Amino acid sequence: MVVLVFGFAALSVFAFPYLPDRYDPSTPIDLTTEATFVTPLKLARINRSYPACVNAVRAAGFKVEADTIDSSRPGCGMAQGLHLKQSNFVYAGGGSIRLTCPVMASLVRWELHVVAPLARKHLGSEVARVVHFGTYSCRNVNGALTGRLSAHARAEAIDIAGFILADGREVSLLRDWDGGGDKAAFLRAVRDGSCDVFRTVLSPDYNERHRDHFHFERGRWGICR
Ligand SMILES: [Zn+2]
Repeated sequence: MVVLVFGFAALSVFAFPYLPDRYDPSTPIDLTTEATFVTPLKLARINRSYPACVNAVRAAGFKVEADTIDSSRPGCGMAQGLHLKQSNFVYAGGGSIRLTCPVMASLVRWELHVVAPLARKHLGSEVARVVHFGTYSCRNVNGALTGRLSAHARAEAIDIAGFILADGREVSLLRDWDGGGDKAAFLRAVRDGSCDVFRTVLSPDYNERHRDHFHFERGRWGICR
């Protein structure tokens, strides 16, 4: 054991200076690079530190402003969050993108490592717009009158309804999920890929309420359906 610990310490001192940053747990996360086995360690750091998280989101090219949401209802609101001003896509349909910083960091990774490459692969186009149904909403899960609060009540979730491509084509969950062909293949690949970025991913396969959108949240439990 002692040998192991000493060995690791020696490795830290002598080997880490030569490691690329994405394999070096001591350097800040770069959200633009593909995940490696040290990514969970780096993500844990930005989940704990708002300033570190904001730096990571901005370094990835997202223009964001500090944001808070007050609510009179216990459990609702957002203490330290971000308001998205500009990213690689234009978000339309569901109002402002206001999310906690760790979820915004997930959105960075989702744009860069899930949506953009899958649109190129399956549809041969860039994505221009993302149609969404909103982020923050002080309500219960499934909009029920009773029960636990939705992750939307803490600005920790986003609902995505579809995409508008740079070449003008539209991809809609409602119309294209069961349509077969390239659009359906793209949407199903996005669902699967999103599970690497958001812990909770609900698609039209989950239930009737999600027939027209993906629900993404950081979540405590891993659900990918
Ligand atoms: Zn939702």
